[in-house]
Amino acid sequence: MIHIAIIGSGPSGCYIADMLAKKLPDSHVDLFERLPTPFGLVRAGVAPDHQHTKNITRQFERTLSRENVRFVGNVHIGTDLSYAELKEHYHIIVFASGAPIDRKLGIPGESLDGVYGSGEFSRWYNGHPDNADLNPLISENIAVIGNGNVALDILRVLSKEKELLLKSDISQTALDKISNANIKNIYIIGRRGAADANFTPMELQEVMSQPNLTFHIDTSDIPESPPEHIPEERLRNTAKNLEILHNTKTQASAPNGGIIHIHFLFNRPISTITSDTSRVSNIELTVNNATSSLATSSKNLLPLNVGTVISAIGYVSAPVPNVPFNNNSGIFEHHNSLIEPGVYAVGWCKRGANGVIPSNRVDATTLSKDIIADLENTVPLPHKEGFSCISTLFNERNIKPVSYNDWQVINKAEIDRATTGKPREKITTVSKMLNLLN
Ligand SMILES: Cc1cc2nc3c(=O)[nH]c(=O)nc-3n(C[C@H](O)[C@H](O)[C@H](O)COP(=O)(O)OP(=O)(O)OC[C@H]3O[C@@H](n4cnc5c(N)ncnc54)[C@H](O)[C@@H]3O)c2cc1C
Repeated sequence: MIHIAIIGSGPSGCYIADMLAKKLPDSHVDLFERLPTPFGLVRAGVAPDHQHTKNITRQFERTLSRENVRFVGNVHIGTDLSYAELKEHYHIIVFASGAPIDRKLGIPGESLDGVYGSGEFSRWYNGHPDNADLNPLISENIAVIGNGNVALDILRVLSKEKELLLKSDISQTALDKISNANIKNIYIIGRRGAADANFTPMELQEVMSQPNLTFHIDTSDIPESPPEHIPEERLRNTAKNLEILHNTKTQASAPNGGIIHIHFLFNRPISTITSDTSRVSNIELTVNNATSSLATSSKNLLPLNVGTVISAIGYVSAPVPNVPFNNNSGIFEHHNSLIEPGVYAVGWCKRGANGVIPSNRVDATTLSKDIIADLENTVPLPHKEGFSCISTLFNERNIKPVSYNDWQVINKAEIDRATTGKPREKITTVSKMLNLLN
């Protein structure tokens, strides 16, 4: 029997578990997850109004219910179990632990109240136990720093009409807070030009079609077509994004005038966040000289009066004690996924925080082939005990792992308590989840 431990039950953990369990019938896969709930960012990152994206969990449910796969929730590798213990009891270890830490802007004022990373902010509205109590300061004027889909998610969640969010699985606390916030202006701020934005056209168009918004876009700073430096594989998306931005009805032409004003500011790196109190009140934007026509104009510095700043500029992974980690890149130290013999990384903790859910499938496909090839070259395999030894450690340490059946209990409770057409009302503390199981 080949004993396999996977750390993390997000997309990459679920994909690699499925592939190895199928291709290696003489194996047992234990999928460790620090939360009592599976699915990583699909549950706690993907925006609550994008239920079509979250539907991938149906496929992952099938993986978790496979005979030779065991979900081991509520177990934090590095705290509850050490890396050395995993190595002792498993033939193969795969880290699929994602990248949960917000990258810092690295500018003065970042630690003021009212400044958040998109990771913690999206975990808050998604009811993740780590940030369910964030209680962010949401002011009338909000700056979202970043030009990727996460920035658009945050803009959408903050500005979407309440009736529409009532059909999502947004946490009720977040919904109440956002809908009572009286938001007037949201600034989407990119340090580079519109052509360099990482929005996907579908997500950009979705925002631009929201009837309750009025858009402010300085089209003189947006090229008509992709400039030369845009790589081939991004040309189509870039051309479409530019077209959408040019065609969006701005304040002057919007038929009824929206109630929230959305300002797209390109080529505007944020330089400082300031305040006279402990709470952010202003930010200052400079000009990206490399690509902007603004650089030659008089509009060099742009001060903005905002009471909330949300940075959506990427994430780094969390190190696990004694697992080689590259502090510069913020991912595990590896060579083509291999951390050391028998130990691998996949997904965001391997390649950094980029790519959509299906990108992790591609990653897992390659890795599953490599693992099988490595196993074929390791004969004979040493004897290891896998979960039977681990469960002894759990008993000694009074650790109560959450099984797949336990997750079904939590899942049902969340679905049962949902009202107003919501698909579920998430339970937002670990203790409440565990209480359901006693
Ligand atoms: C805000 C946001 C919105 C997104 N929206 C979309 C979208 O709409 N569509 C799309 O295709 N992609 C989206 N993505 C990208 C997508 O979520 C990622 O590609 C994908 O989740 C990465 O998968 P992963 O398994 O590597 O990491 P994760 O999904 O982060 O999973 C990692 C898992 O490991 C667990 N874990 C971490 N450390 C430990 C430990 N030490 N012990 C045990 N368990 C541990 C975590 O709790 C987590 O469950 C979004 C990302 C973000 C941040």
